[in-house]
This record gives sequence, C-alpha cells and structure tokens, in this order.
Amino acid sequence: MSSDELELYDSDIGEEIEEVEKIEFLNREDVELEMKTLISDVESIVEVNAGMCRNLLHKFKWNKEALLNKMYESGDTQQFLIDSQVMAKCDDKVKEAKEGDCDICCSSGVLIGLDCNHMACKECWKMYLKEKIVDNGICEIECMEPDCNLLMEESKIANYTTNSFILAKYRYQSINGYVAASSRLKWCPGNDCGRIVKIPDAETRLIMCKCETRFCFNCCLEFHDPIDCRLMKKWLKKCSDDSETSNWMNTNTKDCPKCSVPIEKNGGCNHMRCTNNKCKHEFCWMCMKAWQYHKENGYKCNRFDESKEKSRSETRALLERWLFYYNRYMNHLQSLQLEEKLKVKVSAKEEELQKNSTMTWVDVQFLSKSVSALSECRRTLMYTYAFAFYLKKNNNSEIFESNQRDLEMATENISGYLERELETKDLKTLRQKVQDLSRYVDQRRKALLDHCEEGVENDFWDFSE
Ligand SMILES: [Zn+2]
Ligand SMILES: [Zn+2]
Ligand SMILES: [Zn+2]
Ligand SMILES: [Zn+2]
Ligand SMILES: [Zn+2]
Ligand SMILES: [Zn+2]
Repeated sequence: MSSDELELYDSDIGEEIEEVEKIEFLNREDVELEMKTLISDVESIVEVNAGMCRNLLHKFKWNKEALLNKMYESGDTQQFLIDSQVMAKCDDKVKEAKEGDCDICCSSGVLIGLDCNHMACKECWKMYLKEKIVDNGICEIECMEPDCNLLMEESKIANYTTNSFILAKYRYQSINGYVAASSRLKWCPGNDCGRIVKIPDAETRLIMCKCETRFCFNCCLEFHDPIDCRLMKKWLKKCSDDSETSNWMNTNTKDCPKCSVPIEKNGGCNHMRCTNNKCKHEFCWMCMKAWQYHKENGYKCNRFDESKEKSRSETRALLERWLFYYNRYMNHLQSLQLEEKLKVKVSAKEEELQKNSTMTWVDVQFLSKSVSALSECRRTLMYTYAFAFYLKKNNNSEIFESNQRDLEMATENISGYLERELETKDLKTLRQKVQDLSRYVDQRRKALLDHCEEGVENDFWDFSE
C-alpha cells in the first residue's frame, strides 16, 4: 500500500491547533526584556533613574498610561514622586556611607542607607532584606526606618546583599509582579516548567505548554470545557468534600450481570464482553445494563432518571443524583488512565507496520492521532458530567444530553476498536476504519462543545447551585 493511495487524516480540531500556534512561551529573560523596555520608556518621560522607574511601574501594576495620567494630574512631578515612595522627602545632601553606631544593633562601624539618610550597618540591612524578600515574599521594600516609606531601588538591594538565593527570589518576585499585573501572561502550572505563557487575545483559554501541561488560561486548572471556571472549582471542591460519601471504588473487576463471573476491565472501553465462553454477555461497565439497550434510541445511559427517585427521601434522591454524575466523571477519568496503555500498544503497532509493510512514518500516524482524539473525548466527557450535574432542565439540556450520549457512544466505539481490532490483517480496512471512527468522534465532540458555547453566548443555560 503506497502513501498516495491513502488520504491523509485531517483533524477536525484544526481550529484549536491554529490558536495554539499563536501562543508564545516566554522565559524569565524574555519577560525581563519586556519590563526593561517599559522602564526605559518611563525613564525618558519622567527623567528619574531606572530603579525609581521600576518601583513606580510596580506600584502602578505596570500600567504606563495610568502612571503618567496620575503624574500629569498631580501637576507637581516632585510631589508625585515623593507620594509614590520613590523619592526621599528630605533634601539633605545624600551621604554614601559614614562611620557611627548602628541604631538597630548598636555595633559601631560603617553605616549605609537610602537617600532619606536613615542609616544602619550592612549586617542589619542584610537581615532586613532576607526577612522582606524570603520570609514575606515581597519585592516592594520600604526603608528600615518605621516612619519612612521610601522604596529601595534594585541596585541598592543588590549592593546590600550579595546572597544569590535572596537576589534570585527578589528577581522572581519582581517578574511575578509583572506577570500577575498582565491579563495576557500566566506562569505555566506544570511541575518545574517555569515558562510564562503569553496569549494573543483575551479569548484564548486552552493552553498546551511545551512541557505538555494542558490548562485553562483563566484558572490554570486542567482545561475543562464545557464547564466554566467557577463551576469547575465548585465541582472539584464538592468532589474532595464528599469523597467519603461518594463510594467511588477504583475497581477493575465487576461481576458479569448475567453469569456472575468476575470480569476484569483492563482497557478504557466501557463496552464489556463477558469472558465466560458460555455467556459472552455484552454489557455497559457504567450502568451494568445490556449493551444492546445503548443502541436503542429511548435508552440514555448518561441521563439521570429523576422519576425513579420520587419514592425516596429528598436527601437520598440528592445523594443518588450526585453519585450518578460523580461516578460517570470518575469512570471516564479511569478510562483515560487505562488508555495510557493503548498509547504504548499503538506505538508498537506503528513500529511493526513500518517494518513489515510499505507504510512510512507519516502513513502510520493515523494510529497515534486516533488515540489523541480518544483522550480528548474522554476528558471532554468527564467535564460534561460536572456540567450536567449543575445544569437545570430545559429544551437545550435535552439536546445537550443527546449530544453527550452520541459522543459517549462514538468514544466507546473507537476505544473498543483500538483495543480489540488492531490485529486486523487488512491494513487498508484498518486505516479506513480508524480514520472514520476518529473523524466521527471529533465531529461529535465539536458538535457538543459548539452547542455548549452557543448556550453561553445566547444565555440559554440555567445552572442550579
Ligand atoms: Zn546594625
Ligand atoms: Zn528612610
Ligand atoms: Zn509548561
Ligand atoms: Zn478555567
Ligand atoms: Zn457472563
Ligand atoms: Zn450504560
């Protein structure tokens, strides 16, 4: 089979990928360069030194316009600089250093201080800087004299302490102040990543960092479409608060509902087949009902049936409802984890195909792409159950539920195929089938997410909290 016989797999998530390409990943030096540019801008207008400008900008949350407006408004630049804590009130001649007794530790020797002439020995300054920078975690440091609020300039700090740990902390906090002030910058939450993500426009939310962390730019949690950041936090809190009553067992074994033989789940697919040869019953791992019901239109494994709970007490019904959504959320998470094995299996298959057929590296990529598509769907499905838990019923919630059902069925289909049919001898069929299933599952996912987004734009979602 040659590569031109085969149509290349084109992903339906192209939109997202295009967006990701415009996102920049900066390191600390890049950010410091941006800061320096702003500092020199302000330096040329205000005409005071760079250290003072840095403190000024920090005070105004790195908003140059706000800073300059405030300065012009005040009409008196000198007074503005004093009020902003960057210029000393007194106009005594500044002494670089003098001999004398330190007011703080009473030892005698060389005393140093800021332009305000509040002097102390170097040891006391060092201790003070350690306390402010390391213990208090701040980079806006006032003079040691309690009645004086003059801010220390960066060059003074570097002069008074040579401890590289303290200076590195100061540098980090200073950059962090800039990042925190910007609506376009965020630290990547990935472990030890240290990259700073810069988004091209305010709408960008999905970030896929170079360290492979996928996160929501707004809240820095794992990307959680379709549920919004606020409800997501609420959901996670509920999950951890109620973990004891939630009876979720990360079990890999359940008894076949027909013959009671224990069935082990060793992949992500929830479409189970009893391993007892006399039984071979097909059932759903989530609801334990026969799989054939899932193909019928009336049955919705993903829908919580409230009518069944009518006879129970309200507390019990609420608990059942919570368990319904929580268990499905956890179940997709478990499947996502089990499907890690599929990645290994699929890349072995890709190797094998390249060795034993005429397929090239490019030709076999459809397999790993299909596993990525599957993982995307598992994650989306997880979050749809958190979304559905808070969702109030209306016409659109019905559409949402049927989209969710379609996505779930499509996901189990591709998951089952990759788990069980990879050894198909006919490569053309394998490729065709995997591409079709991938494309379909992507379409279902997109349809669901588009509908959810439409609901946000047109305000047709109602949440109960
Ligand atoms: Zn001292
Ligand atoms: Zn002072
Ligand atoms: Zn990262
Ligand atoms: Zn978020
Ligand atoms: Zn059975
Ligand atoms: Zn089911």
